[in-house]
Amino acid sequence: MARRSHKPDLEAILDDIADRMASESERGKVADYIPELAKANLNRFGIAVVPIGGAPVVAGDADEPFSVQSIVKVFTLTLALERVGSGIWARVGREPSGDPFNSIVQLEYEHGIPRNPFINPGAIVVADIILGKREPQAAIEEFVSLCRRFACDESIGIDADVAASEIATGARNRALAHFMAAEGNLKNPVEDVLELYFNQCAVAMSCRQLAMSARFLASAGRLEGDDDPIITAERARRIVALMVTCGLYDASGEFAFRVGIPAKSGVGGGILGVVPGRASIAAWCPGLDEKGNSLLAARAFEELARATGWSIFGVL
Ligand code: GLU
Repeated sequence: MARRSHKPDLEAILDDIADRMASESERGKVADYIPELAKANLNRFGIAVVPIGGAPVVAGDADEPFSVQSIVKVFTLTLALERVGSGIWARVGREPSGDPFNSIVQLEYEHGIPRNPFINPGAIVVADIILGKREPQAAIEEFVSLCRRFACDESIGIDADVAASEIATGARNRALAHFMAAEGNLKNPVEDVLELYFNQCAVAMSCRQLAMSARFLASAGRLEGDDDPIITAERARRIVALMVTCGLYDASGEFAFRVGIPAKSGVGGGILGVVPGRASIAAWCPGLDEKGNSLLAARAFEELARATGWSIFGVL
């Protein structure tokens, strides 16, 4: 394994991590509650790092698109904050849930106010905010354009089979949404909000595209060369803070302990990470652990943090 230095040799580090992950026999289990995701190949592994001001460094299957799922919640929160500013916090909290991402019981005893924007009910409220008074299709198209702009890549789109699969099977998300509607925390019809939410989750990106799309969070809300920031530095910092506390479901504390890189995972097997002032990172392997986080993508982050010293909590 390459050793940590002030300027890490990212190419050697990522090649080394990809080689190691390719030979792992324990690879977790694919998410099968969304039938289309169960088709993913457990043998895939990709990783990409975009250093601030630099070109992407990649290894493994870094150019293969996968379903980003909950990772997209980082970008939907960005958009909602731009849309309504801090008003969003009247409708969704900022605390880790300590419960599974689709828990119904917590939502009930907290009167329809989700704990944070990165669990499903929180992201459904965020989708309601983004939808505003428009038709779902217009909001979906706007969101895809936003992803393309963030990643500087016009080829990004929605995997229609994944979206359809989740629309057909999303009973639990429907339960969460109807409960919030009953508590007055959704303004639009449940099915319109869910159409937007499911399509957002079904955006497909590769590790390279995902790491590119989070550059603005690593550089205080701004993309190099752009006159206008994507988001203010203060909001970028707050989104990154939520990634630390809430980004890996009810294993966020464990990930901070083991890795120390602000991150957001999705049940498609991706993990997106942000090291403020240094780099954005994406790793992917479809096999999940029992909390819903990619087993090998999490391990790759751990090895990367060790090799680079990029933990935000101090050099390892
Ligand atoms: N679309 C998925 C769901 O709502 C997202 C879950 C996830 O990636 O955490 O269940």
